[in-house]
Amino acid sequence: MDTIRNNHGRFETRAIHAGQVSDPNNGAVMTPVYLTSTFEQDAPAVPRQGYEYSRTTNPTRTALEQNLASLESAAWGLAFASGLGATNALLARFSPGDHIVAGNDLYGGTYRIFTKVFERMGLRFSFVDTRDPDAVAAAIETDTALVYLETPTNPLLRLADIGAIAAIAKQAGVLTAVDNTFATPFLQRPLELGADIVLHSLTKYLGGHSDVVGGALIGNDEGLREELAFLQNSAGGSGGPMDAFLVMRGTKTLALRMERHCENATELAAYLEGHGQVERVHYPGLKSHAQHALAQRQMSSFGGMVSFELKGGVAAGDAFATATEIFTLAESLGGVESLVETPPSMTHASIPVEVRRAAGLEDGLVRLSVGIEHVEDLRADIDRGLAAAARA
Ligand SMILES: *Cc1c(COP(=O)(O)O)cnc(C)c1O
Repeated sequence: MDTIRNNHGRFETRAIHAGQVSDPNNGAVMTPVYLTSTFEQDAPAVPRQGYEYSRTTNPTRTALEQNLASLESAAWGLAFASGLGATNALLARFSPGDHIVAGNDLYGGTYRIFTKVFERMGLRFSFVDTRDPDAVAAAIETDTALVYLETPTNPLLRLADIGAIAAIAKQAGVLTAVDNTFATPFLQRPLELGADIVLHSLTKYLGGHSDVVGGALIGNDEGLREELAFLQNSAGGSGGPMDAFLVMRGTKTLALRMERHCENATELAAYLEGHGQVERVHYPGLKSHAQHALAQRQMSSFGGMVSFELKGGVAAGDAFATATEIFTLAESLGGVESLVETPPSMTHASIPVEVRRAAGLEDGLVRLSVGIEHVEDLRADIDRGLAAAARA
């Protein structure tokens, strides 16, 4: 594997330059979108610059992979067609009988691929509360091969102590993977804390403009890279060149966008917490968050996701989400535009009510993906939603 091109400077600088060089043919400053499936060879099995076929490698995707590796302080990155495409390749690395310890508060699609696809293939899963490192330690068995964490989680913004859990896993000879989609490498770098693999849905903050679907696996160990690159090619989930270009366009402004996401979310979380119609706010940046101290230690700021519980239950939540005008009612997150969704009636509606409540997901829960619009416009929009909730 080549070392990362232009891997110099601080985060903001590398976000713009790492992995990218002007085009050797004509000096184009931006990495071209190499829309080609195949590459001319100089002699049989002598590819000109290492490229043979775009499922295996493509120069636009290579530029993105190096860019992502640089941002996560890693040696390598691999880009996939979606976040779940990356999860699929990671899980395909394990064998029937292997056991995986995962959080009990995962992204729904991750839980689905674990239980509906890989359990059928003979992998075994234990789902535990990863807020508690001891619960992870207790779940590790002789056949455990992977600890899979998400932090912060969706939609309750719970944290896992990456350093503590990765140390427990390492002692047991177990790999640790962290889904870093919510935090992004601008706020949290799991490999620096001891994790072995970082997973991203590039669809969210890294793309940042709600116009592309993609995923990535990122790490340092060369043996792991070889295994996962083999699966990227042989299972065929690699990301396309246009998608790679769009994500790179996104990562260039990641630092700027995240600063504003965090600023806006911090202000709105405090506003909601002081409001009489609001029962509770979940945001790692609030002193009232049970793991605020861990958030301060593990993250450089607290992200753009905020959830809160409205008094008045499902009706109030639904009225809020229908009345807002800037906060668009939609699933997904991490784009420049603000979105709102109501987990009890949308993303988590399939979970039985008692199970959902027992997990802390109350009826009036509303989730905001706070965008980078002007914060006063967002506050006025929240007031519009709260007024509708009060009438519900
Ligand atoms: C969206 C998401 C995924 C899945 O990514 P896709 O790009 O939608 O396949 C995985 N993890 C988290 C935390 C997500 O938000």
